[in-house]
Amino acid sequence: MSLADEIKERNKPPVYECAVCRVVDKMKQDDRADLEACLADESITGTAIASILAERGWPINPDGKQVRKHRRVCAS
Ligand SMILES: [Zn+2]
Repeated sequence: MSLADEIKERNKPPVYECAVCRVVDKMKQDDRADLEACLADESITGTAIASILAERGWPINPDGKQVRKHRRVCAS
């Protein structure tokens, strides 16, 4: 790799991986449909979704920030 390539490589922003999208990808079909419906329902808070996912053992922070970010960034 040339020096320029190496510098450009380092200059790339870190790839943002959405924790919620990762969970959706890994879920089995039934749960996935439920989760997607809840994510689309604005009356359900991110904290409610995240805390249940965390209780069920998914790698989601129960504070709900990741869910709110997913709704903002991914669901558009
Ligand atoms: Zn997402």
